Amino acid sequence: MTLTADSDTRTDLGLAWDHRFAALGPDFFTELRPTPLPTPHWVGTSPTVAQLLGLNEAHLRSDDALQAFTGNHLLAGSRPLASVYSGHQFGVWAGQLGDGRAILLGETASGWEIQLKGAGRTPYSRMGDGRAVLRSSIREFLCSEAMHGLGIATSRALCVTGSTGPVRREEIETAAVVTRVAPSFVRFGHFEHFAANGQDLQLKALADYVVDRHYPECRGTTEFGGNAYAALLKAVSERTARLMAQWQAVGFCHGVMNTDNMSILGLTLDYGPFQFLDAFVPGHICNHSDTQGRYAYNRQPNVAYWNLFCLAQALLPLMGDPEIAKEALESYKTVFPTEFMARMRAKLGLTDASDGDAELIDTLLLLLARNGVDYTIFWRRLSHAVVAGDFEPVRDLCADRDGLDQWLLSYSELLAHMDKAPVADLMLKTNPKFVLRNHLGEQAIRAAKLGDFNELQTLQRLLERPFDEHPGHDAYAAFPPDWASSIEISCSS
Ligand code: AMP
Ligand code: MG
Repeated sequence: MTLTADSDTRTDLGLAWDHRFAALGPDFFTELRPTPLPTPHWVGTSPTVAQLLGLNEAHLRSDDALQAFTGNHLLAGSRPLASVYSGHQFGVWAGQLGDGRAILLGETASGWEIQLKGAGRTPYSRMGDGRAVLRSSIREFLCSEAMHGLGIATSRALCVTGSTGPVRREEIETAAVVTRVAPSFVRFGHFEHFAANGQDLQLKALADYVVDRHYPECRGTTEFGGNAYAALLKAVSERTARLMAQWQAVGFCHGVMNTDNMSILGLTLDYGPFQFLDAFVPGHICNHSDTQGRYAYNRQPNVAYWNLFCLAQALLPLMGDPEIAKEALESYKTVFPTEFMARMRAKLGLTDASDGDAELIDTLLLLLARNGVDYTIFWRRLSHAVVAGDFEPVRDLCADRDGLDQWLLSYSELLAHMDKAPVADLMLKTNPKFVLRNHLGEQAIRAAKLGDFNELQTLQRLLERPFDEHPGHDAYAAFPPDWASSIEISCSS
């Protein structure tokens, strides 16, 4: 069956638009309409994202919204387009890529870009079908909102709609669309694209757009001889450093840190084969397609720097002097370790830095790694142990009791001089009880495939407030079942 997009724009759902990316002009994108999907249905919605957009409850629940966010009707005032970018994938220049299945509806007057991911083929689809399957759409939806709940910068997700439309992957699955939202979806790869093609005017226009729209403070810089683009590189390096510190501290593996998946705003972007660590395995590879382990958990901070280096090279024509570029990049090397230490200190409830911190943290991470201790459960139990003054539940997690006891002794000595209440309070606000473990996502996906969205809703509710206790839901904070380790997530989505 071939469907054609409904040309009448029935509603704007109360959204007002201001198409600032589109104002860059046709060198940056292709205007096109989403390709409709048959018999759409709701899979999940996020009322908090709806609120950000000023969409009211009635609008969000409407059939108009269901059709619009599946790409079947065009929202009045929207101006759909797919943008062009390039990038390095797995360390190799991949040439032109682009939004192969994401269609930008535009930017709202309140400054949110709205994208439909899985909305059909575009000129940048290459061999792809322009679609996204239900399972990967649910993972993106849940993880966007989970990351936000954890206080980690991320694109957001307004909703997922499902369809009976078939999609071929390893087997036949069904199509879904995630409506995702961010102040900007510009990637490092957008800059690499125009730099690689020698399109200096477009490169400058893009950089000016990003600076004026998102980094206005770069205009007045007194560093780098007043070069705003070097200031931009420094600001992006710092945001990326902060993001990496947060990922490492919470045990998040992205899985596909190609330069086209790196946000110019330092947001977590393009959820694919991501994973939250179960056992603390520093070399853990979450992407089944990543045979070399380029994007292993413990390599993420270095890969981010490598990616920033690519961005720096792309911006070079605008900065002129390579020395300036190097200096701007350098900030990553100081901000990442500082931020990482700050995050880890907070996990330990330490409000002030002291001399022994780094060693205390290093020793602990080695101990967790050697004993394959569950990362999330360890930190949460440690937080409760500080409150209760009973460390037995923590000791139970580690086979090397002597090693742990020694560590606990050093830790207790540090805590001895501190008031326990604020320590425990900080720890319980820093160490989540709930993270989106692979098996939890998988359970929600299996139920959703059978038309039951309760599991998804429960999980969403827990992950939106991951530091709360949520009595009655301890099963979602428990050790992963044996079958969790057999889940294989690849780039195929
Ligand atoms: P990813 O690794 O998912 O970020 O995708 C890399 C590139 O492939 C991006 O340019 C995507 O737009 C494109 N892509 C991924 N999956 C599809 C698909 N099913 N159809 C068309 N393009 C796709
Ligand atoms: Mg991508």
